[in-house]
Amino acid sequence: MPAHLLKGQKALVTGANSGIGKATAIALGRAGADVVVNYVVGADEAAKVVAEIEGFGVRSYAHEADVSKDDQVSVMVSRMVDEFGTIDIMVANAGLQRDAAVTEMTLAQWQKVIDVNLTGQFLCAREAVKEFLRRGVVPEVSRAAGKIICMSSVHQIVPWSGHVNYASSKGGVGMLMQTLAQELAPKKIRVNSVAPGAIRTPINKDAWETPDAEADLLKLIPYGRVGDPDDIANAVVAMASDLLDYVVGATLYVDGGMTLFPGFATGG
Ligand code: NAD
Repeated sequence: MPAHLLKGQKALVTGANSGIGKATAIALGRAGADVVVNYVVGADEAAKVVAEIEGFGVRSYAHEADVSKDDQVSVMVSRMVDEFGTIDIMVANAGLQRDAAVTEMTLAQWQKVIDVNLTGQFLCAREAVKEFLRRGVVPEVSRAAGKIICMSSVHQIVPWSGHVNYASSKGGVGMLMQTLAQELAPKKIRVNSVAPGAIRTPINKDAWETPDAEADLLKLIPYGRVGDPDDIANAVVAMASDLLDYVVGATLYVDGGMTLFPGFATGG
């Protein structure tokens, strides 16, 4: 990825002290952006991410906020405008799972996942868009007035037994993203999603931490390897850059072919 692809741009990544968000924040910094590292718990890890980003000679700071809380998201974005002058790239990445069979799933488990994974993305997008509209296009920075990248999942389209809250949240992210993309494209704001397959992070440790679990998981991945956080981070950097300026309202699946219905390779 060219080192200066995002030079002068200001990015915010939610849930950026772990897994995909961490790799993405670092990749954006490496590409020349100043980066706000959002976290909800884990200040020490967030500080390490900030230090690594500052090593690229760009600016960074950590900001604690729960993305599902309206007031906390609006304070987070207005502080960014105070400190960095504006926001060009919002990566709505924060997410979690609270798995259970439907008959065991509590309303609290359902609500928590919807609040963070779906409402959180709405709130982050809304606050970023207000600033994009206020500032408009600055041609020497980017052809777009702003970019929103929603972190979706293959479960945007793949049903997932035992995870009805999570799959519903990501299905919702698909329509959130497309509707915002339609509404905001005339204002030169690009809204898109990156949808990971199985990526080696704490969220899905059970699926890859033993050789048996990994072998099972690989049956679902035609390309024959579990993804790394950098696979997603690189996709986000590309999606945020002017290289992909004409990509509007798209979901980019980064999944080693998981959405190719691999069970049909030998049957069906
Ligand atoms: P992770 O658990 O390593 O990271 C999730 C991050 O979100 C953490 O930093 C966590 O603290 C943060 N977070 C949780 N609730 C928050 C809140 N209320 N406010 C702010 N931050 C909050 O997991 P990950 O795999 O890096 O997941 C990142 C995103 O990628 C999620 O949206 C997840 O659904 C998506 N995803 C992951 C995979 C995968 O295989 N790892 C696959 C598809 C989609």
